[in-house]
Amino acid sequence: MKNLYLADSYLREWTTKVENASGKSVTLSESAFYPAGGGQPCDFGTISCNGTEYIVSGVSKKEGIQVDREGLSAGDSVRCILDWERRYRLMRMHTAAHILIAVMYKDDVLVTGNQLDTEKSRIDFSLEEMNRQKIGKCFETANDIVKKDIPVTFTFMKREDVLMHKHLAKLAAGLPDIDEMRIVRIGGGEMIDEQVDGGTHVRSTGEIGGIVLLSVENKGRSNRRVYYTIE
Ligand SMILES: [Zn+2]
Repeated sequence: MKNLYLADSYLREWTTKVENASGKSVTLSESAFYPAGGGQPCDFGTISCNGTEYIVSGVSKKEGIQVDREGLSAGDSVRCILDWERRYRLMRMHTAAHILIAVMYKDDVLVTGNQLDTEKSRIDFSLEEMNRQKIGKCFETANDIVKKDIPVTFTFMKREDVLMHKHLAKLAAGLPDIDEMRIVRIGGGEMIDEQVDGGTHVRSTGEIGGIVLLSVENKGRSNRRVYYTIE
């Protein structure tokens, strides 16, 4: 299954063929449906074939695309449409997460995990002393970056080249052994963030609109969790 979303996050309709079908699980020759992974939930949408519409209810790297009923067969020509409203919110949430994490990192806040969703997303981090003011400042800085409408670009790099860049190598270490990796950069003149990433992002930070801090929770002695949304 060729992943179309890696080269174009904005592709929302395409025609392709069913590669494999088994019950309600299918794989396509080409797919822009993002499979759950890297903290980003999967896409939803529809697959149409000969006047019948199949609803996509889940996408995973291992199990392929789950549809609501059987009937598709290998070789079928299909028209696919993404649930764009959901995807576009996840793109804005994802780029917002990169900005927040980069800003927090600069401020010596160690991020330990994150999970995106359409309504609210979360970032987990380690901070000995709870400092709401510090977190609030990070959101202010992140929103300044949003307002500056900074370009978000990507390039593909060979794994061996990624490993030659210290800051990228650190992130690539835990990633699957694939030959070509995608590097997502937020930055024009000024570099905000650069990392190995397979998720979907907006083209420029202005598309995020605004990042809103919802709450900060204590999750153990030095573990904190922050919830945010976009507007
Ligand atoms: Zn990411």
